[in-house]
Amino acid sequence: MEFDFTEDQRAIQDVAQRFAAERLAPGFMARDAGGPLDRDLLREMGGLGLIAAEIPEEFGGTGVDGVTAGLIIEAISHADLNVGYVPLLTGLVGAILVQNAEPDVARRVVAEACAGETLLALALTEPGGGSDAANLKLKARRSNDGYVISGEKTSISMADQADAALVFARTGTEAERAHGISAFLVSCDAPGLSTTSFDDLGSRSVGRGSMFFDDVKVDASALIGVEGAGFRQVMGGFDYSRALIGLMVLGAARASLDESWDFIQEREAFGKPIAAYQGVTFPLAEAETMIEAARLLCYKTLWLRDQGRPHTSEAAMVKWWAPKLAFDVIHQCLLAHGHSGYSKDMAHQQRLRDVLGLQIGDGTAQIQKMVIARERIGRVALGRS
Ligand SMILES: Cc1cc2nc3c(=O)[nH]c(=O)nc-3n(C[C@H](O)[C@H](O)[C@H](O)COP(=O)(O)OP(=O)(O)OC[C@H]3O[C@@H](n4cnc5c(N)ncnc54)[C@H](O)[C@@H]3O)c2cc1C
Repeated sequence: MEFDFTEDQRAIQDVAQRFAAERLAPGFMARDAGGPLDRDLLREMGGLGLIAAEIPEEFGGTGVDGVTAGLIIEAISHADLNVGYVPLLTGLVGAILVQNAEPDVARRVVAEACAGETLLALALTEPGGGSDAANLKLKARRSNDGYVISGEKTSISMADQADAALVFARTGTEAERAHGISAFLVSCDAPGLSTTSFDDLGSRSVGRGSMFFDDVKVDASALIGVEGAGFRQVMGGFDYSRALIGLMVLGAARASLDESWDFIQEREAFGKPIAAYQGVTFPLAEAETMIEAARLLCYKTLWLRDQGRPHTSEAAMVKWWAPKLAFDVIHQCLLAHGHSGYSKDMAHQQRLRDVLGLQIGDGTAQIQKMVIARERIGRVALGRS
């Protein structure tokens, strides 16, 4: 068993940590005012190879392994979890395009996103529901030279700032469920496509909103892969994105924890630094323990992926556990700061709001536990024989 990162992995982590500390951390709280994200900053990030670095070089990434991509997103999210959405979504959408799109389309679209020139969104959820993701209503019907898309997507991260979206639409019948779903790459300035944005609790620089498709015409080349393959394409991607989300929220929790260890050594009560009281240090020591355990499970998930081994269960484990743990740890850190922790001048409240969204986004805890149970005992866990 080998628990250490390689020299190359540490060198890339070092670049990400320096960029995060110098270029992202100073603006983290100001960005809470709302989006869009600063494109110059994203270009800088892309120029350093920090956006979806795991994408192969010929498609604009640097071809690193999943573990290294995890180190990058953890470092970025330590400074600003919301900027972490950019490598997350670029990696998720980018991998689907690299594996399934025409190579010249994938080369152009993914390379621009890895360079920080464009933002990609993933549009799966609909007003009728997100957990039952195979029950899509948005339709893509064939026309003479392509498809016409009509319907609504909702709760889409970056809906009002993305340049293109990978949209999951029904090309088959509703009875076909998952087998009737196909993926389309749609430009966000396509005629007939409009968006709205929500007034969210957290991740305000990313933003979330609805996308309305009013007979949006796309070329046949917008279909990614073959008809009916869309659901399988996106579900495979989630096994990867869930491990990255684990590291994003743990990176944010680590930032609050680091600040808390510093604070308790400076703050005095009853004539001593509060660090002298076990009532103060023990909750932080517990947080250290849990963060370390959850972090190792995230890296194990990515390592399994890098070995080409199954990791669906592990990905679901970190997806339900890490966002809940991060929320609890940040809550504890806020309390360790006393009255000052409750102020909007401190970052804990913002991190609390940001990590909360990822208890829902990319699948709720209940859905992850269903996945774990299904992997363990099969379809009987879903009430099916
Ligand atoms: C911050 C954030 C970012 C997001 N970004 C995106 C994005 O970029 N793209 C995108 O497509 N979507 C995105 N989403 C949507 C997200 O994926 C869905 O909200 C999520 O899958 C849950 O779907 P729902 O909200 O419709 O809840 P529902 O499916 O309506 O579920 C409501 C509640 O019932 C529970 N529930 C449902 N079915 C069961 C069951 N069988 N057993 C037990 N409990 C169950 C759920 O766990 C949940 O607690 C985002 C959401 C958030 C909050």
